[in-house]
Amino acid sequence: MKDDKLIWSERVIIPSSLRQILLNDMHAEHLGIVKTKHLARMYLWWPGIDVDIKNQVKECLSCQENAKKPADIQQAKWSWPAGPSKRLHLDFAGPYEGRMFLAIVDAYFKYLEIVSTKTFTSSNTIQALRHLFSHFGLPDHIVTDNGAQFTSNEFGTFLRRNTHYSKMAD
Ligand SMILES: [Zn+2]
Repeated sequence: MKDDKLIWSERVIIPSSLRQILLNDMHAEHLGIVKTKHLARMYLWWPGIDVDIKNQVKECLSCQENAKKPADIQQAKWSWPAGPSKRLHLDFAGPYEGRMFLAIVDAYFKYLEIVSTKTFTSSNTIQALRHLFSHFGLPDHIVTDNGAQFTSNEFGTFLRRNTHYSKMAD
């Protein structure tokens, strides 16, 4: 199994399957358009990210309210994890050209790992995560979709031994 980092000018290019998750993460503090864009600029990118941020903020009442407050009240603190590997988002993508990809995004936005293989089973998904954990330490939380690889008994046991596991609500 080969793994690669996908880095673009120090910012991580986020695959489409993970964009909404990260938009929601960035939106958690209701910073409004300007600050959210600024935040995104530091860590991540995808085509059309500015428009996506704008659309999300435009429909949010809390963001509109915050925009009216004086500037110092807007110095929001992050509710994000305090450091890398505290919360990981996992998602499968593909197949592209006969390969599947497992994207593992650190919620702290410091890195994105892409692991590719012909097929993902619970066993090689676990193998990929073991490799990752050995480099970055155990996460506190893992958030995934409900892919079969993630819902198997084998994977569940692995996660219970290594982390607090939460499935995505939708
Ligand atoms: Zn908002």
